[in-house]
Amino acid sequence: MSLQDILFTQGFGTRRVCAGLIQQGFVSVAQQLSTDTAMEFVAEGLRFTVQGAAWEYHALAYLMLHKPAGTECSQKPSTWPSIYTLLPSPLRQRPQKGAVQGVQAVGRLDQDTTGLLLLTDDGKFIHRMSSPRHHVPKVYEVTTKHPLDDKQVQKLLEGVVLEDDPKPVRASACEAVAPHHLRLTLTEGKYHQVKRMVAAVGNRVEALHRSQIGGLALPGDLAPGQWRWLGADDLARIA
Ligand code: URA
Repeated sequence: MSLQDILFTQGFGTRRVCAGLIQQGFVSVAQQLSTDTAMEFVAEGLRFTVQGAAWEYHALAYLMLHKPAGTECSQKPSTWPSIYTLLPSPLRQRPQKGAVQGVQAVGRLDQDTTGLLLLTDDGKFIHRMSSPRHHVPKVYEVTTKHPLDDKQVQKLLEGVVLEDDPKPVRASACEAVAPHHLRLTLTEGKYHQVKRMVAAVGNRVEALHRSQIGGLALPGDLAPGQWRWLGADDLARIA
């Protein structure tokens, strides 16, 4: 693929802007300045720098973000800063693929929820992961206001009825790991589901953190607000 097309597909601007960046000497590949817009490279996995910032080519972008509290999973947030402001602009500006422009969050977390969030520009992946038929387990670490008791844990496993649906919803796994720390696994994602389920058993969520999706855990060294690419092995864990 030509260097110009590589930059264009990765979200560095229009083809004209990308040509300008290359011709003005802002792009290096393997530490070599490259001013030829037509120079061909094997694109997948190619590492290059644009204006000193390191980048990596991905035909489709898959990444994880450690969502901090006080951020909204929306492109047009109403009150809190958008999670998209935590990402470098090329990720947000990647050219349209099907219905998707730039990377988009796969599902949403509440403003005050922290933890593992996936983003991609692969529309089929978003669709598959969001389908009610796709039961990928999601693990939540819940800090509760009141001490937990066995009855609450049992009820969450047996199923509770939420106000908008007569069909009970249940946790596929649930344990009190400390008096105020519940670990809850859900295979569906209704609106405010954890908060509403915990309220339905007479307790209250004080803090909520998503630690895992399928077999993919949030790495301990990814600080709130940081992101990283997902590799094929990561994707296999959530397929
Ligand atoms: N359940 C909730 O209540 N909030 C979230 O952000 C995620 C799951």
